[in-house]
Amino acid sequence: MSLDTNLTEAIYLDYNATAPVKPQVTQAIAEALAMTGNPSSVHQFGRVARDAVEEARDQVAKMIGSSAAEIIFTAGGTESNNTALASAGRKRLIVSEVEHPSVLRAAESLTSYGSDSINNRRSGEHELIVLPVDSEGIVSLEVLNRALGANADDTLVSIMLANNETGVIQPVSELAALARKRGALVHCDAVQAPGRIAFDVSALGVDMLSLSAHKFGGPKGVGALYLRAGVDLQALVIGGGQERGLRAGTENVVGIVGFGIAAHLTIEDLQRAPHLATLRDTLEQCLQEIDPAVRVFGGGAERLPNTSCLSMPGVQSEMQVMGLDLAGVAISAGSACSSGKVEPSHVLRALGAPDAETGCAIRISLGWASSAADVEKLVSSWRAFYAGMSARYTGAASAG
Ligand code: PLP
Repeated sequence: MSLDTNLTEAIYLDYNATAPVKPQVTQAIAEALAMTGNPSSVHQFGRVARDAVEEARDQVAKMIGSSAAEIIFTAGGTESNNTALASAGRKRLIVSEVEHPSVLRAAESLTSYGSDSINNRRSGEHELIVLPVDSEGIVSLEVLNRALGANADDTLVSIMLANNETGVIQPVSELAALARKRGALVHCDAVQAPGRIAFDVSALGVDMLSLSAHKFGGPKGVGALYLRAGVDLQALVIGGGQERGLRAGTENVVGIVGFGIAAHLTIEDLQRAPHLATLRDTLEQCLQEIDPAVRVFGGGAERLPNTSCLSMPGVQSEMQVMGLDLAGVAISAGSACSSGKVEPSHVLRALGAPDAETGCAIRISLGWASSAADVEKLVSSWRAFYAGMSARYTGAASAG
């Protein structure tokens, strides 16, 4: 029985927080649960589990155009990001202002001693430079160029491929080429990209790249770090010699198998991406027809086809999330990882949006099971909710 049985009538439009697990993944996971062996064991039970892990490694590698030997399985995007930043052995870290907290907080923790300001922190060992973005949320080559300086042999640059809140896509291949020319190592948080945009690690030209299965129909709690052949890394999680000694701990065979199948299925998602973009554009157009003051964040930039971050003027984000939830539509306010905590979005602030707008921002994110009917329901629910809120505000104003 599905835990979501009582939610069958509700519509899920929060794929950037996590995507529903695909049926083929559920099936593969059920089969993997029946595997007894530890992949490190040499007997036949162990070999079956090892084969399953290696098949998944191939599937994940294929998805990003790497070789299987360059994939290290982890417990998700957060661990991959932390490993990349903490373990690459570079003293100077350059990240953008709009990175996910698992990059920003990890970078800050490495540099938190003796920090003077957020934009340039220095500890005994590490220095952190946080790059500003433009009003669409893009990191420019000039800004990175200045931060790198003439010689960046001691530097790690970490720039995300697509933003989890706005969907805005960074020019990673250009930024990476510039950084690597100066001697920097380049890490890319690509957690939101698979199945939404086609990409390839060679074309991106990065040294490390983070992935997480649960954003594209795989299970939660499993991910990978791509580590380009020849790049050195100190293990963050130490113990047994699993994952070539780079990530200790008995492999999460069930999760890894599900990750592999989900990675394989992103081919289908990519074919459907233009349809999702049309649905997303339609919903933005409809909401802007209801109120032309609706602002789409990052709307002028290249974005993921599934993501819309917009503000409903005058109505706090949490009110919108709750109002739509009551109407049976699940969306999020700002970053999902901070949902439940009411804090202004650091991403929208970085775009220069005033607090009045960031406080009214919601994120709608579509995915593999989203349909035109879902978007219609969202629009009609939003219209009804907005009319109700406007009536209340008008009533309050005249009463006052
Ligand atoms: N990076 C980005 C861009 C994300 O959106 C997320 C999750 O929201 C993560 C990293 C963290 O991934 P995980 O949930 O697998 O730890």
